[in-house]
Amino acid sequence: MPNQLNTETPTAAPHESMKPGAAQQDARPQESAPHPQAGREAFSFEVEARIEGALGRTGTIRTPHGDIKTPAFIPVATKATIKTVRPEEMLEIGAQAALANAYHLNLQPGTDVIDAAGGLGRFMNWPLPTFTDSGGFQVMSLGAGFKKVITMDASVVPDDAAVAPKKVRLALVDDDGVTFKSHIDGTTHRFTPEISMKLQHEIGADIIFAFDELTTLFNTRDYQETSLERTRLWAERCLSAHRSLTAERSHRPYQALFGVLQGAQYEDLRRKAAKDLGSMEIEGQSFDGFGIGGALDKENLGVIVSWMAEELPENKPRHLLGISEPEDFFTAIENGADTFDCVSPSRVARTGRVYHPDGRYNIPQARFKRDFSPIDEECTCYTCQNYTRAYLHHLFKAKEMLYNTLCTIHNEHYTIKMVDDIRASIEQGRFYEFRDATLGRYQAGSTP
Ligand SMILES: [Zn+2]
Repeated sequence: MPNQLNTETPTAAPHESMKPGAAQQDARPQESAPHPQAGREAFSFEVEARIEGALGRTGTIRTPHGDIKTPAFIPVATKATIKTVRPEEMLEIGAQAALANAYHLNLQPGTDVIDAAGGLGRFMNWPLPTFTDSGGFQVMSLGAGFKKVITMDASVVPDDAAVAPKKVRLALVDDDGVTFKSHIDGTTHRFTPEISMKLQHEIGADIIFAFDELTTLFNTRDYQETSLERTRLWAERCLSAHRSLTAERSHRPYQALFGVLQGAQYEDLRRKAAKDLGSMEIEGQSFDGFGIGGALDKENLGVIVSWMAEELPENKPRHLLGISEPEDFFTAIENGADTFDCVSPSRVARTGRVYHPDGRYNIPQARFKRDFSPIDEECTCYTCQNYTRAYLHHLFKAKEMLYNTLCTIHNEHYTIKMVDDIRASIEQGRFYEFRDATLGRYQAGSTP
């Protein structure tokens, strides 16, 4: 039975016009308004400035819910919330989009609930573009307890059965999909490319990702090859399912589908993945952009991104999953990545760590008990304009919830602004000068 709320209209609210307090109104468009652009033309990407002598560029991703100026950092809203912070505050910080997770939203509250609410943006009162991750990473990593992809140690002897210490493998991969146990209640679930597409269409984010198999640097070369071919076949099934779902759900704004590139640390596999998915077309449907996924060791981040950027179509955006350190942003952007997401800014905030141009430091340290200066004298965020290190130190020690909100605001602001400043440096033709000055200061580590 059709639900009453499925006449959702894209708000197309331009980011620049968003004011704190305006979000609520903008996020609830008139039910009866027609879609200005329901079809594929609602999504586009245009390259603007370039880094001289490199693959990096600036651009604009156009979605039914507004534009994203790239390069851009996309804050993570795993369970349809950026933890501890209201959407209005994230808009004030300058967030251009939010990224939620299909695995988590499928288990809780259920994608049918989000569909009935009119899609992710309306459900969470977020008026700007949204992304969802396919759930592949969570399906395969939560159970096995893999370490975070970017920090994997390439020196470990390959072992296809490897899991983290004291963890049990809860996911079983076959050629059709993955059977896994819920991390919440242990119940058994199954994801296939078709199921992931259906769930992501119900969630309704502007940008969704193909379902892929996660490998790690622990896997053998043979397994990487087998897995890459499986991911290629799954990508074809995702395109086909996405095409059908887009036609069936033409009352909803167009959702762009990004293919996910694997291949671990192997140049031939990474280039093959980029060529295969870059040229893939099923009944006229091709990928709208690409996600760079899987095992990447930090040392080789730049060169791995460059292999794929050289093979991919120039006019489609590239999202790199899971980076947040300043040096990683510069490296990835120089080599052709356009958007990024990571849970780190908010996660490290909740453990007491705050970002600073001179390096990260820990607010719970005793030396801040009577320090009445802000986290960062140069920062323009709400927290730094109104609160001192001494107060934040007190809130942390007293386990007050406001601590999480205030420090998350600062760390998200720092990260979003870092990438925005990199974009400005490319536009002004001074990317390398800005990189050297920023990293020189950050890595000198003369924190307060
Ligand atoms: Zn601040």
